[in-house]
Amino acid sequence: MSQLNETHDASLRSWVPGANDAGGDFPIQNLPFGRFRLAGEPDWRIGVAIGSQVLDLRAAGLVDHADMARLLALPPAERAALRLALSRGLRDGSDRQPGWSACLHPQDGVELGLPCEAGDYTDFYVGIHHATAVGRLFRPDNPLLPNYKWVPIGYHGRSSTIIPSGQPFVRPRAQVKAPDAEAPVLAPTARLDFELELGIVIGQGNPIGEPVPMDRAEDHVFGITLFNDWSARDVQAWEYQPLGPFLSKNFASTISPWIVTVEALAPYRRPFTRPEGDPQPLPYLQSQANAEAGAFDIQLEVWLQTAAMRAAGQPAECISRSNFADAAYWTVAQLVAHHTVGGCALRPGDLFGSGTLSGPRPEQAGSMLELSQGGKQPFRLSNGETRTFLQDGDTVTLKGACDKPGAARIGFGACAGEVRPAPRG
Ligand code: CA
Repeated sequence: MSQLNETHDASLRSWVPGANDAGGDFPIQNLPFGRFRLAGEPDWRIGVAIGSQVLDLRAAGLVDHADMARLLALPPAERAALRLALSRGLRDGSDRQPGWSACLHPQDGVELGLPCEAGDYTDFYVGIHHATAVGRLFRPDNPLLPNYKWVPIGYHGRSSTIIPSGQPFVRPRAQVKAPDAEAPVLAPTARLDFELELGIVIGQGNPIGEPVPMDRAEDHVFGITLFNDWSARDVQAWEYQPLGPFLSKNFASTISPWIVTVEALAPYRRPFTRPEGDPQPLPYLQSQANAEAGAFDIQLEVWLQTAAMRAAGQPAECISRSNFADAAYWTVAQLVAHHTVGGCALRPGDLFGSGTLSGPRPEQAGSMLELSQGGKQPFRLSNGETRTFLQDGDTVTLKGACDKPGAARIGFGACAGEVRPAPRG
């Protein structure tokens, strides 16, 4: 697992504009990777966010290509060397400053794309408070199914509808059936929801037939993004039995532009623990390193701006806060070990969704389904509007950050998407 080193020193300062601003997402201790292009360019470049800028990695001479999949596949030692070179070159007083200054572009002057071409996409369900709250809506006496505490639940999803932050999407039409109706109809979803998730980006792959053991699992993880798995609850309720989510989840999922590396998250590790009385994982999902520091302390927020707020010049409003370490029942390493235990091959750029990361309290819910108790309790916004599910014109923005005394605050940027009306059918 990633260790603390000189790149995490909270006292480091950078010569790049904005990098030393208090509360900023991209100080020199972060150095997340993404893809960008200038106006009119057809091809993506690989960039590193620093302050208000993005450093062009190839122009700076740190790589000789612009292929993110190749970068993701680097062995951990080479990834660490690249991080060290970036950190030293971007520090105050570095002799790289004259050369690298010409390789910087303002983030707000470039197009930020998908951080990588997502390969296969798997969505997990590690948020135990979400699983319990949603289960309670359907099974009040027995909210958690009996497998939940033994096996990391997930399903194979679809990467072609993963879209970059800032790209709007249309309300999907699909089959829905009212409980008292005799037959379903094709209609725009009336129960459109967000899901507060993290995206786990796979680095090095593994050959088919060769499981990745726990003690090497994080060698295969490049880093973490924000991820909003937009969901159509009425569609989901009608279609999900017996094989799980399908069209309710395949119309859009929004990913943030920057991959925060596992190395950058080293100061924010936490022990993996289980509540008293819960079963310990099977041996293939255990390791000493995971027990000591397998979890990540990442603070998460959901912000909503309605069309009416936007028209009135009102800012977005925070409607939920939670934390990855408090919400997740399984660690990132356990997801990799479980995914591959039967011999499944992972490839660079494969993406795992964590599942909805609700905290233990109702106001920490990571979906409208929970905030509105299944659509039964509208919740009130500060401008007097109410919501049970999302309306056209609503923009949902996820944010994430790590912050604690003695370490530099690092942020994940923003993961934003706006709901547009369904096409006329
Ligand atoms: Ca999900």
